[in-house]
Amino acid sequence: MDCSYFRERINEYVDGEMDYLQVAELQAHLSFCPDCALELAQTGELRGALADWGRLELAPPPGFAERVMAAVELEPAPGAPRTAGRLLDETLRKLDDRLGSISLPGGRTIPVKNVIGWGLATAAVVIGLGRRRERGSRELPL
Ligand SMILES: [Zn+2]
Repeated sequence: MDCSYFRERINEYVDGEMDYLQVAELQAHLSFCPDCALELAQTGELRGALADWGRLELAPPPGFAERVMAAVELEPAPGAPRTAGRLLDETLRKLDDRLGSISLPGGRTIPVKNVIGWGLATAAVVIGLGRRRERGSRELPL
């Protein structure tokens, strides 16, 4: 077996992926081949340096996992209503509890939040009409 056979297997040796027979073969070769011994030494040093670099540079900073978990918990669960929608819903429900209902003639009641909602909808329509009128007057100058 020539050197190329062993050179191809040095990574397996460093990774501990060889069986006992293969290790014995390689070690027998290394005992009389300084070139392959040097190759093994350099591969081992490179691997060690990479491992050290990984530990030092790629290790997550302290508290990283906790921050990720906190961020994940803030996200709504899949299929859950969007946060803004849920917030509006909760706000309206609180308003409902706070404001109660208005009694109408005939014994009927109407939730105050609905009145507020209609007020907002009316305001939106009025603002929209106002904008349209503005745009219209620009398109058709008198
Ligand atoms: Zn060799």
